[in-house]
This record gives sequence, structure tokens and C-alpha cells, in this order.
Amino acid sequence: MAVDPILVVAAGLWGLCLGSFLNVCILRLANEDKKQRSLFHPPSTCPRCGRRIAWRDNIPIVSWLVLRGRCRSCGKPISMQYPIIEAVVGVLWIAALLAYGPTVRFLTAGVLGTILLGIAVTDARHYLIPDEYNWTGLVLGLGLSLTAGVPGFIDKVLGAAAGFALLYAVGMVGGWVFKEEAMGGGDIKMMAMVGAFVGWKGVLLTVFAGSVFGSLVYVPLLLLHRRKRHVPFGVFLAMGAAVVFVFGATIIDWYVRFLRAG
Ligand SMILES: [Zn+2]
Repeated sequence: MAVDPILVVAAGLWGLCLGSFLNVCILRLANEDKKQRSLFHPPSTCPRCGRRIAWRDNIPIVSWLVLRGRCRSCGKPISMQYPIIEAVVGVLWIAALLAYGPTVRFLTAGVLGTILLGIAVTDARHYLIPDEYNWTGLVLGLGLSLTAGVPGFIDKVLGAAAGFALLYAVGMVGGWVFKEEAMGGGDIKMMAMVGAFVGWKGVLLTVFAGSVFGSLVYVPLLLLHRRKRHVPFGVFLAMGAAVVFVFGATIIDWYVRFLRAG
């Protein structure tokens, strides 16, 4: 699909700014103290010296490169994570625009991809999935589904319910079998959010895909280290959700034809 180059540049710039905001979310929402979770106050400061970061030092990617990855006041290194997240979100929005054109699906892909990235990074680093990602995503996913009329909306409400119920059930069974919490509340709410984007069939496929990805990575690690590890399941569910959003309809079509043929 040919897309106006101006729109591509706009999508990239929007993605960079959103990536910059996502960095703030990743940094602050993992704070267990709910009172310190405000995304807008106080303004960004250097985590090392506490000096406030001026707007010219807060331009996505550019500032990091100009400052050569160091704080202007104290000279201590600034994590590479910041420009990387900004670049990834920028590329994500451009890729979504090139793939789907200026459509609701493009917008949906950008929103879901950005939230999944925030969840995956936070879960990988802190083993938690902040509610803010889940509730924001749930509302935006259901809101965007309204553009497909009542049937589209109902499918996404069922998706949210199915995602919640399925992971809740897995968590209960896991709790009986392993005598410990198998599924965090964050994972359960996350799948309600994912269901609001991919519908009930997509959410079932996401849990399946996430389990496959998780096993591929963690079974070898478990065998190598011979000890129990905490699994950031949200990372693998996020990968599953991204794959299902892009290829889900094709996979489900193929599966239905496979069942009918058999
Ligand atoms: Zn500093």
C-alpha cells in the first residue's frame, strides 16, 4: 500500500515521542509505592544526580546521541534503554502504517504494540505487570473496536472475558497442583486487555502461543540450571499477542480448514 511520505514521517515522530513517554512509564509504574507512580509529576530528573532534565536534553534519541549517553550535569552514563525504547516505538508505528495504511487497524496495532512493549520490559526487569498498562489497554482496545460496530465490540468484550477467565482458571489449577501462585494477578488482567484487541479466538491462541514461546526459552534454562526460576510470563504472552494480532486471522482460518478437512 502506498502511503504518503509525510504521514510516515509523522507516524515516526509520534512513535518517538510516545516511546519517550513509555520510558517514563517503564521507570515509574514499576514503583511498588502507588503514591510515587505519577507519570506527569515530578518532571524528569537524572536518576544519578537528581538534576532536572531540560527539554533540549529530553528530545528522543537526538539528545542521547548529542550528550553521548551521559548526563549533562553529573556526566554519569544514561541507560541505552532510553534511546532503544524510543527507536523501537518509532519503528513500530512506521511499520504499522506501512502495513495497514492510515486505518483504524494501524492505530490499533500501534497502541497494542506500545503497551505490549511496556509490559514486556517491565515484567522482564521487575516480574510485575502494572495495572495502568492493563486498564488503559482494555479501555482503548474496546473503544477502538467500536469502529467495527456492535458485532466487533461484542467480540472484543467476549475476548476480554475469555482472557480473564482462562488465566484465572489456569492460575487456580496451577495453585492446587504446585501449591504456590502459578499466575500473577497482572497476567490475568493483561489477558483481559489483550482479548479486547484480538477477540476471544485470538486470546485463546495468544495463551497457547505464549506458553510455547515460554517453554522454548525456559525449559532449556531449567535443565541447565536445575533450579526453579521465576518466569516473567508476561514477556511471552506479549510476544504471543503480537504474533496473533498480525497473523491470528490467517492461523485461525488455516486451523478451521484443517478441522473441516479432517
Ligand atoms: Zn546526572
